[in-house]
Amino acid sequence: MQHTTEGTGGAQGTPPGEPVPEVAGRLTAHSTARLSAALAEEFAEGAQHIGGAARPGTGDADFTVVDPATGRPVWTYRTAGPADVDAAVAAAGAALPGWAATPPAERAAALHRLARLLQERAGDFARAETLQCGKPIRLSAGFDVPGTIDNTDFFAGAARHLEGRAAAEYSPDHTSYVRREPVGVVGSVAPWNYPLQMAGWKILPAVAAGNTVVLKPSELTPLTALMLARAADEAGLPAGVVNVVTGTGPVAGEHLVGHPGVAMTSFTGSTAVGRRVAALAAGTAKRVHLELGGKAPFVVFDDADLEAAVHGAVAGCLINAGQDCTAATRAYVQRPLYDAFTAAVADLMAGVRLGDPFDPATDLGPLISAAHRDRVAAVVRRARSYATVVTGGGAPGGALAAGAYYRPTLLAGAPQDSEAVQQEIFGPVLAVLPFDTDDQGLALADDTPYGLAASAWTRDVYRAGRAAREITAGCVWINDHIPIVSEMPHGGAKSSGYGKDMSLYALEEYTQVKHVMYDNTAVARKDWHRTVFADR
Ligand code: NAD
Repeated sequence: MQHTTEGTGGAQGTPPGEPVPEVAGRLTAHSTARLSAALAEEFAEGAQHIGGAARPGTGDADFTVVDPATGRPVWTYRTAGPADVDAAVAAAGAALPGWAATPPAERAAALHRLARLLQERAGDFARAETLQCGKPIRLSAGFDVPGTIDNTDFFAGAARHLEGRAAAEYSPDHTSYVRREPVGVVGSVAPWNYPLQMAGWKILPAVAAGNTVVLKPSELTPLTALMLARAADEAGLPAGVVNVVTGTGPVAGEHLVGHPGVAMTSFTGSTAVGRRVAALAAGTAKRVHLELGGKAPFVVFDDADLEAAVHGAVAGCLINAGQDCTAATRAYVQRPLYDAFTAAVADLMAGVRLGDPFDPATDLGPLISAAHRDRVAAVVRRARSYATVVTGGGAPGGALAAGAYYRPTLLAGAPQDSEAVQQEIFGPVLAVLPFDTDDQGLALADDTPYGLAASAWTRDVYRAGRAAREITAGCVWINDHIPIVSEMPHGGAKSSGYGKDMSLYALEEYTQVKHVMYDNTAVARKDWHRTVFADR
């Protein structure tokens, strides 16, 4: 099954103007106010999911989830304090021996049941995701939720397919084999851009491999992670296998990462916080898995299909309002196509419809928050001193002014070493730069601190092969940009981190390999003892 980046499903999504796919669910509120009320009722017992039960946090502050499309509050919850994290880690620790000893077929059956529950509640998940993130309903219903269902089914199957080297007599006197065992309690921290999918990417491979999990979603977007944890319990994963603590990074996040009861930290988020997480985890020598920021290049060679490249660049940049770690952010276009590409991208961007994310006709929703919109706007404002804003470059007014909207923006002429080309903006902003030779284009593509994803656009198989080899990235697309599949790994290089999500590689990351070596001789005084006892 094909996905967009970060675990989404469905082949190409719903073409503009067509109805959003039919989505089932219980939270059928007709307005965001009623949907907010329904969600508040659903989680009235509290925002912490620990040991199979909901309870309120004991942190010293409340946090309010805000609908970024309107700026209106959705739900206020009491955040997790250190005591809640301790309780969640204890619950995960208590559940670990039983879950680790559960046969893979039973773990798989529970995960398949979870996938069916998610299917039944697809509409609930899509609406809650759109409400808390502002992402268009066509994205949450057409990609985010089906992608998570597919991931759940994939890891259910994967639970039964752990592999290792053949057992053999690598020394004539011994038989060796390897065991793949769960790492233990996994403490995961996730971002706000794809809250359900990121929760899935963190929880599913870990529990498929027999670990138990404490997940801290972003404080901005806790709802669908809580819904997923609840569904996991209902599907028959034992209480304590999946725990969710909702709170801030500095309080709940840091306590979880530094916790001595946590064997592994799996983090997805910004590079700056990732560095802090790695340093904190070092205090207890934990295994660390980091999925960090990106600044994906989009390289268009002079033999490319121009129409495909133009559409690919606009869709690849604007998916999730550009708040996608693999989004196309830097288009390098070989000189003969540069002017035509720039004009066509500007034209297509200018026609994109901003609007109510619950309206199936909306192409682009708001950014996650007004504060983030202001950060994006500040980068573009500074860019005006060194680049040309070809289209966009501002927030819309009128009915959308209360939301965190920002217009699709194309920057031309920004130098390679400028902020707009080097730093992750995480908004609907594309920089376009020309290049002359293939050597130059590939060198520019590789010239940022990041290495998460990239694409090359050409009809020449040798150019494509060269781009795939020479660009440093966790993924290189040829003549496309964004789709992913559950079977293939996602993860970065350089400052984009290390470790893989999705695929059997992710399953392996959540295991530790143990070598078991049997003596075959039954001899008390073994030959190798000569190295210790000089008289033999
Ligand atoms: P962020 O780094 O600000 O926050 C991510 C998570 O870390 C949140 O849950 C936050 O509460 C928590 N956190 C913050 N400070 C912490 C601390 N000191 N200790 C522990 N936890 C802490 O990132 P964000 O703004 O939520 O998400 C956007 C970023 O995520 C972008 O940089 C994007 O590229 C990246 N991202 C990467 C991938 C990937 O697969 N590589 C996927 C999605 C998003």
